Formats: sequence, C-alpha cells, structure tokens
Amino acid sequence: MLIVKKFGGTSVGDKERIFNAAKRCMEDYKNGHDVVVVLSAMGKTTDVLLEQARDINPKASKRELDMLLTVGEQTSAALMAMALGSLGVPAISLNGFQVPMQTTAVYGSARLRRIGCERIRHELEARKIVVVTGFQGVNKYGDYTTLGRGGSDTTAVALAAVLHADTCEIFTDVDGVYTADPRIVKTARKLDEITYDEMLDLATAGAGVLHNRSVEMAKKYGVQLVVRSSLNDSPGTVVKEEVNVERMLISGVALDKKAARISVLGVKDEPGIAFRLFHLLAKRQINVDIILQSIGREGTKDISFTVDEEEADTVVELLEKNKENITAQSVQCKKDVAKLSIVGAGMMSNPGVAAKMFEALYSARININMISTSEIRVTVLVDEKDGEKAMNVCHEAFGLAE
Ligand code: ADP
Ligand code: ASP
Ligand code: MG
Repeated sequence: MLIVKKFGGTSVGDKERIFNAAKRCMEDYKNGHDVVVVLSAMGKTTDVLLEQARDINPKASKRELDMLLTVGEQTSAALMAMALGSLGVPAISLNGFQVPMQTTAVYGSARLRRIGCERIRHELEARKIVVVTGFQGVNKYGDYTTLGRGGSDTTAVALAAVLHADTCEIFTDVDGVYTADPRIVKTARKLDEITYDEMLDLATAGAGVLHNRSVEMAKKYGVQLVVRSSLNDSPGTVVKEEVNVERMLISGVALDKKAARISVLGVKDEPGIAFRLFHLLAKRQINVDIILQSIGREGTKDISFTVDEEEADTVVELLEKNKENITAQSVQCKKDVAKLSIVGAGMMSNPGVAAKMFEALYSARININMISTSEIRVTVLVDEKDGEKAMNVCHEAFGLAE
C-alpha cells in the first residue's frame, strides 16, 4: 500500500511530538508499505513568522511573506527526516522546489497546478520514507508560493491523488471532525463519517479542521480522507462521497471570526455598478462572500459584502480610490463581525431549517446583520462578540449535542 500521512502543527510541535509522529510512520513502513509524510510548520511557527514580518514591515509584499513562511515547513520536514534516521529508518525530506509542486503565480493563496512524481517515486523505490513540506509550492517565476493558511492538508490530498495512494490520513490535535469546533462547543459530537459536500461547506464556513481546497480536491479525485488524532488510536472521521448513517437534518455548525463587512453607500441605482465594483475586486484576486444590495431609493442604493478580514484594508483603500468610478458616496468597514453557518444535506428536503436557526438566535437575543444560503447551508453574519454564543445555541437547537 501507499500511504500519505499528514501531521499538523501541534502534532509536530516539539521533539517528543516529532518522534511520536515518526514512530507512527515507521510502523507502516515496517509493515512493508510505502509512506509519504506531509508536514506543517511546528506549533505556532507560521504565526510567529508573520508577527516578525509585521514588526519589520506591516506592508511587506506577499512574495517576501511566502519566502519567509516556507521556512517553517522546511524546518519540520528536515527534522522529521532526521528523527526517522535516528530510529534507523531511511528517510529524505523534499521541499516544494525539489518535488516539484508547481502552483499558480499568486502569492499567499496559490493553487496547485502540477506535481512531479518522479523524484518521490524514485525515493520510495529506494525504500525511503519521503517527507514533503506542506503548504508550499513554486510558481512560473521560480519563486516560492504558499497555498493559504491551513494549506498543508491540500498538499497531502494532492499528493495522495497524483501518487494514487491507497489512503490519506490527516493527523491533528482533535479526534476527528465534530458537529462544531469542540473548543467552542463543549457538547460537540465526533462524526464517524461525513460526505465531501458537507465537509466542503463546513470547511469553507470556517471549520478549520480541514483546508477547504483539500476537500474539493479529495472529492474531485476520489481520495478518501481520514481525519484523526496524532495522540491516540481512535479511528477518527472518514470523509467520502456517500455515508451510511441516517442523515441528520444538520451535520454541523461552523464559525468564521475572520470576516469583515464592507458597505458601499449611495451608489447610483443603474446598470453596471455592481459589475464595476466587483470587477475591481476580482482583478486583485479578492474573494467576496455574502453580497447584499438594498432596494433603490431616490436613484441610489447600497451594496454590502463580506471579505476576509485580512483583505479589508486593501479593499477599502481600493474602493476609496475608485469612488467616482463606482459612484459611491462613502465606504464603510466593520471588522468585528463573524459568520455563523449551519450545514447539512438534510435541509434540502426539509423546509423551515432557516426559520429554526433564526428562532434560536432570536431567543438568545442575537442580532443578524446579513444572511446567505446555499442548498445545504445557511450563513448569518453576527457581531463577533455574539459568535461563540450563536454557535452554541444553534448547535443545541438542532439537537446536535451529545
Ligand atoms: P492542524 O495544525 O493539525 O492542521 P488545525 O488547527 O488546522 O490543526 O485544525 C484543528 C482544529 O480545528 C481543532 O483544534 C479545532 O479547534 C478546530 N475545529 C474547528 N471546527 C472543527 C470541527 N468541526 N471539528 C473538529 N475540529 C474543528
Ligand atoms: N503552516 C501553515 C499554517 O499555519 C500551513 C498549515 O499548517 O497547514 O497555516
Ligand atoms: Mg490545519
């Protein structure tokens, strides 16, 4: 068998954890399997590096940030290969250049385009464990890129897909995928199985346990994922196309505190305004989420939308510069907001799910700022201070608690 094993930051946070992960890899290797290990940076390394960068230059270019961040994964990969070596297992570490993991050009949120398998196959044939840096790649300019926060999951799934691995295990610091973030909702329940679609919506809505692109890719290439703890042997959660268990109305609740709301006030109520506004953002590769447009009044209207909090300042600056072009009277930004989502395939055939969610929020006196829905998801924007409470009351209202 060929097994891809990915270990997150906490799971390789110190010497002891690195050896713990190394031993788990050694077991599979000794059983005769080919093992590819994908690693994140140790502990909070990525955050520390970002803090250092901010301290030196808060407006540092994304290129230089990627140059810096790739160091984190390179450290853990090299140390892991050394740990395996000291256990008597032949191992080699490879970074994004060496594999190579080719990506799109954009820094900070690149997408994987092509992965060279030759080197990895060659090393596996020589009976080595191959340790690959997660999160990083190389673009057409020969520069390092990164895949966005949490992107090591995507590296692992992509490798599992191109190498036709038999299994892809994502080792993390919780026992699997829960009905809500177990750090916020104490009664959250571990799921034995979840579908790609539900997991994708949960991950996109803020359930950071998996990078959303990793789920997208797993679905596309039919890679079955297992999310499990690096610290115990419990079986974890299987992410796959179809699940056997009877569908609950809602399978999970997710919270994204990193949202910001931008409001563009008093734009002309005429064709082409929304196009001009969102085209500006698209050109800068800025992702827009919930969009709300007010009904026109006296020839003007307002357009509000949410973006990633980290992009909010750039967006405001861009819109202020183009105020005349988009006919805006003013631009406002609110950063202390959070997106709360309920996700479940069961809601397709059950009307009244949104109403039930709104009732739960109303009972807790939580105000809703914006609403958006998809086939299997309802998302509301609330004040950040209400986010965790909102998550708990919705979790309770849909009977997800243990
Ligand atoms: P890693 O470094 O292993 O990639 P992450 O911090 O990226 O770990 O992801 C694991 C964390 O995701 C957990 O510690 C947990 O707090 C959070 N999380 C958010 N939503 C969920 C959920 N629905 N199920 C499990 N964990 C969740
Ligand atoms: N080290 C990166 C991050 O902290 C990538 C990852 O952990 O998946 O976001
Ligand atoms: Mg992660």
